[in-house]
Amino acid sequence: MTKFSDLGLSEQVLKAVAETGYDTPTPIQEQAIPVAMTGLDILGIAQTGTGKTAAFTLPMIEKLAAGRSRARMPRAIVLEPTRELADQVAEAFEKYAKYHKLNWALLIGGVSMADQVAKLDKGVDVLIATPGRLLDLFERSKVMLNGVTMMVVDEADRMLDMGFIPDIERIFKLTPPTRQTLFFSATMPPEITRLTE
Ligand code: AMP
Repeated sequence: MTKFSDLGLSEQVLKAVAETGYDTPTPIQEQAIPVAMTGLDILGIAQTGTGKTAAFTLPMIEKLAAGRSRARMPRAIVLEPTRELADQVAEAFEKYAKYHKLNWALLIGGVSMADQVAKLDKGVDVLIATPGRLLDLFERSKVMLNGVTMMVVDEADRMLDMGFIPDIERIFKLTPPTRQTLFFSATMPPEITRLTE
């Protein structure tokens, strides 16, 4: 049976994972983590509850561990369709990045922009965002996306249902073509297949 320690993760990440109480990777973690660690793009077909948050968060922490954040220039973005999902990712990130000096900001609608802007000004490694709020802050020149080295699109089919696909396409174009992309969807309707292609 595959263990977390077989996936190429560092000691600090393994320690944080062990402290959450997980001992065996789920199938999506087992398949996605070693590939993501090599820097390749991923298309993961996975439902909520399969452990996909760790499947993208753990390789992200490893990738960001070496560098440092700069004002208004996030190094990674995670796009979520709803604030609840964004909150869950932030919670997971906090647990798994416990032994790393990485910071994150939540950019979601319906809350004041001032705190989000203040955090961006200080420099964040990871933005966990809903697409509309991220683009809003980009248009106000509060955030630049040309330093992004990893982009996660989570729950892409829900993004489609909510009409976010044009926003996602715009965000793709604003990030460097060299970025690593981890793309997750529970189903693959034609619009999502087109987007991934
Ligand atoms: P997710 O699909 O990422 O929303 O995760 C669903 C739930 O499974 C969350 O409550 C996680 O804390 C939990 N989980 C994630 N990975 C594992 C694992 N390897 N073993 C046991 N539980 C896990």
